Amino acid sequence: MKYPDMFRVEPGTRVKLSQIDPDYKGDDKDQSAVQDELAKLTKRLAELQYLMYAECKRSFLIVLQAVDGGGKDGTVNHVIASMNPQGATVQPFKVPSAEELAHDYLWRIHKVTPAKGRVVVFNRSHYEDVLVVRVHGLVPPEVWSGRYDEINAFEKLLSDNGTHIIKFFLYIDKKEQLARFKQRLEDPAKQWKISESDYKEREFWDAYQNAYEDAISKCSTADAPWYIIPANHKWCRNVAISRILVATMESMGMQFPAPSVNIEEIRRQYHAAKESR
Ligand code: AMP
Ligand code: MG
Repeated sequence: MKYPDMFRVEPGTRVKLSQIDPDYKGDDKDQSAVQDELAKLTKRLAELQYLMYAECKRSFLIVLQAVDGGGKDGTVNHVIASMNPQGATVQPFKVPSAEELAHDYLWRIHKVTPAKGRVVVFNRSHYEDVLVVRVHGLVPPEVWSGRYDEINAFEKLLSDNGTHIIKFFLYIDKKEQLARFKQRLEDPAKQWKISESDYKEREFWDAYQNAYEDAISKCSTADAPWYIIPANHKWCRNVAISRILVATMESMGMQFPAPSVNIEEIRRQYHAAKESR
């Protein structure tokens, strides 16, 4: 399959992350080689988001998942920067509050899914409930193991009701994670981002990889596909995601709505005679 479609996990495929190269660059040599294309894609993404807002018929949910330091925040910035905040927002998910924990795990998620015409980027998502929750045994195995089917049913419900869903796993390796933690320690503007828990979570690396493999294998569907994005190189990650988002939005067949007023009549009444005065 061709780049970047090759990053999409076809339904029913059993993912092995160790077989994927997080350094993969495809045919792109370096950042400067993709700079012009990236600028064009960014502009196109803004146009498509404007079209979605104007059309107001469907919505777009972009899910971002990665290990700590995997580049979720940077990707959010990259994806959303060109979009109009009136129609495109980011939704981060932290440790659930007491109120959230008192409900089913999809309660807090469903409330913030995009309305018609809107784009929402999830920075973490309902997948945490089969990732961190599974790795740390926050609920028993018989509970988290039932969630894959529940998530598929939930995403189908959204999709059946006009929400396009796309899910990105930003895949970095262990070495790159340590390098990024080190950068955070050394850069006063990034120190706020690092904590001991990042290093503690790192000890569960293999358990997280297994949990990701299961989540992606079991929940990549035709309506809500997972993409595994090689993400050791930030510029590569950004260009791959932009290409996929533009192609996905272009395939939706969106159209500006026909005007609800009589444009000719307005033109005649308010412009034809008056502009010469
Ligand atoms: P960050 O994205 O770095 O601000 O961290 C958010 C933290 O919230 C991470 O450690 C996540 O694992 C944690 N988190 C998010 N969702 C859940 C959840 N459903 N259950 C437990 N922890 C969660
Ligand atoms: Mg963090």
